[in-house]
Amino acid sequence: MNAIAPIQKAAGQGPAPRRQSVGVDVGGVLVGGSAPVVVQSMTNTDTADIDATVAQVAALHRAGSEIVRITVDRDESAAAVPRIRDRLARLGVDVPLVGDFHYIGHKLLADHPACAEALAKYRINPGNVGFKEKKDRQFAAIVETAIRHDKPVRIGVNWGSLDQDLLTRLMDENQNAGSPLTAVEVMREAIVQSALLSAELAEEIGLPRNRIILSAKVSQVQDLIAVYAELARRSDHALHLGLTEAGMGTKGIVASSAAMGILLQQGIGDTIRISLTPEPGGDRTREVQVAQELLQTMGFRQFVPIVAACPGCGRTTSTVFQELAQAIQDDLRRNMPVWREKYPGVEELKVAVMGCIVNGPGESKHADIGISLPGTGETPTAPVFVDGRKAATLRGPAIAAEFQQMVADYIEQRFGAGGRHAAE
Ligand code: SF4
Repeated sequence: MNAIAPIQKAAGQGPAPRRQSVGVDVGGVLVGGSAPVVVQSMTNTDTADIDATVAQVAALHRAGSEIVRITVDRDESAAAVPRIRDRLARLGVDVPLVGDFHYIGHKLLADHPACAEALAKYRINPGNVGFKEKKDRQFAAIVETAIRHDKPVRIGVNWGSLDQDLLTRLMDENQNAGSPLTAVEVMREAIVQSALLSAELAEEIGLPRNRIILSAKVSQVQDLIAVYAELARRSDHALHLGLTEAGMGTKGIVASSAAMGILLQQGIGDTIRISLTPEPGGDRTREVQVAQELLQTMGFRQFVPIVAACPGCGRTTSTVFQELAQAIQDDLRRNMPVWREKYPGVEELKVAVMGCIVNGPGESKHADIGISLPGTGETPTAPVFVDGRKAATLRGPAIAAEFQQMVADYIEQRFGAGGRHAAE
């Protein structure tokens, strides 16, 4: 009894309660407040290329992005925005579009009112909204446009374009302080202050707090955790989390997951974007998949059925089980846009694909449906477990196809109209 008490206590701790933030309606998607953490992404197409941008926004949304940001960097892009929104509507893609503005956002929004109206939110970077005496004027112009069109804004500070006047002032003040902070600490403080002072200014101009989201992106994991912890402590604005310049492949995924995982565990963060540099020709939707998997693996949301697969070892000298695990995973993800509608609750499904009898039957029994493939030297049969009970034994070259069919049948039977789940 005593031996397991500490484990129970640790397990009971779990994530901290979500920080209370003021919810912001972004084109019908609530960010913050009582809403679950929202997944968002950004295109990398030239927004003036309407075909390419429509295709990528649709792909990101189909992959699960609940908000999509697009670059609005010049007149041609601004003019394209309402046409992109209309084309998406005709395709049945109902996803809020966010305009990413730098340097001339005030002018583009003024010159293209249809763009200002079509967007569901404007992203402003206070570090490059304008310089010297123009800065506040141009910032105010964007905020006034947002008020006129009843749109929210994200005040998105980025350490790579941090307000240099503010940084210099804080550096000078720090120099004269009795116990000065390190340069890194001053930089973090400047990022936090840039976000908070800009939010204060926006509110003074008349934009209510439930129209303001804050972000403060940096490229180092420890900086990100420190900056957001401070922002969370000093404000109740909804927070958009993201590690900027996270990098390519596993480096970007690990860095983003480490930083955001810690913040989410502390209850901080209302929407996330995983910024991954795609490999040449790579799939942009990867960033959506990673964001979903981060939230799902931490137990905050369910998006797609879980496929548990063992890592394989010297007992599995063939690639059969790796191929089957991959095929099942791909199949589930590919079908989710349709299944989400057709099979309510399907995202809770757990599938196991195991490589041999050591852990295979045990793990498979804990899944809703699981298969234990034969390892090297084992009898070439594969028991399949459904709801914890052995339901079939597959043999021969068609094991993979037969198991895939069993998974499809299970989903239909459990989650289809009139299925067991529907009756529950
Ligand atoms: S279940 Fe079998 S094949 Fe998979 S890792 Fe464990 S021992 Fe290896």
